[in-house]
Amino acid sequence: MTNSNENFLKELHHPDVPVPEGMQSAVAVTSFGKLIDSIYNWGRRNSIWPMSFGLACCAIEMIATASSRFDQARFGMEVLRASPRQADLMIVSGTVTKKMVVPIVRLYNQMSEPKYVLAMGACAIGGGPFKEGYNVVSGVDKYIPVDVYVPGCPPTPQALLHGLIMMQKKIDGQSFGNRNSMPWYGRGPSEEVPLPVLGPDIVDPRQAYLLRRETAASDAVAGETDASA
Ligand code: SF4
Repeated sequence: MTNSNENFLKELHHPDVPVPEGMQSAVAVTSFGKLIDSIYNWGRRNSIWPMSFGLACCAIEMIATASSRFDQARFGMEVLRASPRQADLMIVSGTVTKKMVVPIVRLYNQMSEPKYVLAMGACAIGGGPFKEGYNVVSGVDKYIPVDVYVPGCPPTPQALLHGLIMMQKKIDGQSFGNRNSMPWYGRGPSEEVPLPVLGPDIVDPRQAYLLRRETAASDAVAGETDASA
């Protein structure tokens, strides 16, 4: 029996039922709920299908992670799907511009439950080197819920693999007994995330002349105040 199988059995043991030390790697005494959770989560964690889409330089590292040298197929994640309806993991790999955040949210809404989001790289996490640039949002988590953050500029394939393992650990911790950890088992369909609209944060470049006019007016007021002081 491999170490991972032994650990799996040890985690299954019910704490109130003592099992002799020598039998713990071969026998598990557990509750029905914990057994169902373990089997269900084991199946999901080893068959995560990421969506195949990339946004900028980080996407190159994501592609490298799928190649033979790093081989994310070892984790059952080699099937990068071209459709959000067949994917359960969105890897936001790259700079999220104000123009792209709308299709990103739309794609997220089109993914079927249960679904997860991994923010890869400084840009996806908080804007990165372009933070507060006129065309970049300060983190994709302002628009969709993020489960795992992988920092770096860009994160290496090893870092992304570590993030994917953390994603598996998160799935391991979900339980039918805790509906908050499995919101998709509620009554009725899950609510969609509202699509972002252009507003005070997302600026429409077609209205840049309005910004220039307002900036010039406030500069003029500041100049008059300085002159009268
Ligand atoms: S975090 Fe760095 S490497 Fe990744 S998309 Fe942004 S600038 Fe490119």
